[in-house]
Amino acid sequence: MKLPIAAIIGRPNVGKSTLFNRLTGSRKAIVGDEPGITRDRIFGEVNWKSRKFRIIDTGGIIPDEEALIPSNIFKQAASAIEEASLIIWVVDARSGITPLDEEISGLLRETGKTILIAANKSESVAAANEAAEFYQFGWDVTPISAEHGTNVGDLLDKVFDVLSLENYANAGFDTPEAESASSCGLKLAIVGRPNVGKSSLVNKLIGEERVIVSPIAGTTRDSVDTELVFNDKKITLIDTAG
Ligand code: GDP
Ligand code: MG
Repeated sequence: MKLPIAAIIGRPNVGKSTLFNRLTGSRKAIVGDEPGITRDRIFGEVNWKSRKFRIIDTGGIIPDEEALIPSNIFKQAASAIEEASLIIWVVDARSGITPLDEEISGLLRETGKTILIAANKSESVAAANEAAEFYQFGWDVTPISAEHGTNVGDLLDKVFDVLSLENYANAGFDTPEAESASSCGLKLAIVGRPNVGKSSLVNKLIGEERVIVSPIAGTTRDSVDTELVFNDKKITLIDTAG
């Protein structure tokens, strides 16, 4: 059986290779303070709770300055991204969100793959708190310390959650999530700052003008629930106040 593959992506020096070594229990990937020290794509195997997946460490065959250009990070990681059913995006919790991270997030979104954010260097409580900032990208965030091993087990549990859901999907079965969504219905909250178009989006989704839309900020006084059925599944849209 072919093992599922996860790719480790991120800007230089955030600890991708340290995480790779931690997950594979090897010293295959070179770790260093110099950005761009990973010479090549490196494959390893991760064993966790008697399950396995393959992992690819990326980043660094290009010269240092060019390693700082996100499109180059992606060019180099392209085949890893393509092969992977899951991407672990490693960021540095201590430095917070950098412009390079912003750009990488855009490119990651275009891949359409499932992304798990590993907010590395979170060994201090302060850094672990900072890690929450990365939730703004809309993906799951796990504060970890690749160097100390903190929370790496939690990250692995999430990896296997994603991979087993994918297996369900590939086998054409309803996922446990999909089943529960069809029986109890999915509740979807539309959230955002005033006047960005939340109510207009809800109207578009339900195809009628049931929610009051107004160019005056703050017209939606309370949350408005609207039920709709899509692909035989019940969805409750909750339009929240501005
Ligand atoms: P890569 O370029 O993303 O592969 O980063 P490396 O794995 O080579 O690590 C870059 C630097 O960050 C090295 O000096 C590591 O020792 C350090 N590092 C990696 N993980 C951690 C961590 O969890 N905490 C701290 N404080 N430093 C780390
Ligand atoms: Mg590296």
